[in-house]
Amino acid sequence: MAGEQHIFYLRDAQDNLCGVQLSAALWEHARPAVEKALARLLPPEEAAEPLEDFRQFLEYWDFKYPYDPAVKCPHCGAETSDWRTDPAHPFHLTTANLGGLLVFRCAHCRTTIRQKHFRDHRALEHTVYEG
Ligand SMILES: [Zn+2]
Repeated sequence: MAGEQHIFYLRDAQDNLCGVQLSAALWEHARPAVEKALARLLPPEEAAEPLEDFRQFLEYWDFKYPYDPAVKCPHCGAETSDWRTDPAHPFHLTTANLGGLLVFRCAHCRTTIRQKHFRDHRALEHTVYEG
């Protein structure tokens, strides 16, 4: 069968299928469909963070206190001193707007954490994820 030269099934020691390798020629044809399928496999929190919105949020910062990049999850206790640089990236930014709102999702328990920035203080709210 000619297809055997283009599709290679990869099996682990127990003979379980663990991957499929495609020839470069076949990949060229299959790539758009595979990338589309991949996007559906990834959970929504893997969507890109609105970093451009966040950049503007910082650019127009006019509150009376410095920006604090620390995030803490009130539900499971996960925390970071700087969500932007933490290699574990425990919090995923989902929303940033010039009105002073930042929304994060806790990577551990999926709780939604809202940081509302007001002129003199920051208020925190959270919503526990319920499957
Ligand atoms: Zn959490």
